[in-house]
Amino acid sequence: MRHRSIVLSFAAALLIVVAGCSAQQRVQTETALAQALISDQQSAQIGEQVHAQLQSQGVHYVSDPEVTRYVEGVAGRIFDLARRDRPGVDFHVHVIDDSKTVNAFATPGGHVYVYSGLLLLAENEAEMAGVLAHESGHIVGRHIERAMVNSYGLQALAAVALGNDPSAAKQIAAGLVGTGVMRAHSRSEETEADEYGARYASRLDYDPNAMITFFQKLQAKESSGPSALAWLNTHPLTADRISHLTDYIRQNNLHGSVLAAERHRAIRAKLGASARG
Ligand code: ZN
Repeated sequence: MRHRSIVLSFAAALLIVVAGCSAQQRVQTETALAQALISDQQSAQIGEQVHAQLQSQGVHYVSDPEVTRYVEGVAGRIFDLARRDRPGVDFHVHVIDDSKTVNAFATPGGHVYVYSGLLLLAENEAEMAGVLAHESGHIVGRHIERAMVNSYGLQALAAVALGNDPSAAKQIAAGLVGTGVMRAHSRSEETEADEYGARYASRLDYDPNAMITFFQKLQAKESSGPSALAWLNTHPLTADRISHLTDYIRQNNLHGSVLAAERHRAIRAKLGASARG
């Protein structure tokens, strides 16, 4: 109990600090708060619960081993870089079998979910890698934990942090799945995730501009069928988002030559065949 009250008074003190500071300081304080209240182990625990919740909602995963091996291979190399920035997280990728939905999201515990619809829309491996790297950036930046600090009471998070209320993790997981909190990030978090994405992609020699071509593809499709483009709902593509990313890539001299369109096309053909069949 003593431990619990220390955690709570620390958190309460941080919240008072948050109330009177700039946006930049607020981000840093919220990140510190998230780090203090939610350990990697507790994040992993909530992530497992989210996974179980998705399962119980009837989410299906692509089982074709050629497709999963391909996505795991690309994601695995991104995760190797992400793990250096956030050690202690066990990263996983899951391919959701839904060819009509263009989406990807990250959940606590290092889980990245990507829909087969997004793989089908991506023109090449570099575009897919850009999205996976962006989602990994949300994990490295602790954006999901920060959203949890904002959305749930300190009592609930402290209960998870102290491990003395097993139902708390379950409740938080249900809330995350129900409200889609894990998918709604602030503008500054999206910028940060874009920057991580471009850096990781480029370090793996993927053309970082593939993120931009993918954004433009989404923009072009937006008029024809916005409902299926779920990623756009949480990732509004403002002109300044694209221009910021363009500038960031140029200013940091990020480059890469791999697009791997052929390899990606073969996977798309497999997914396309199963979507039709
Ligand atoms: Zn994002």
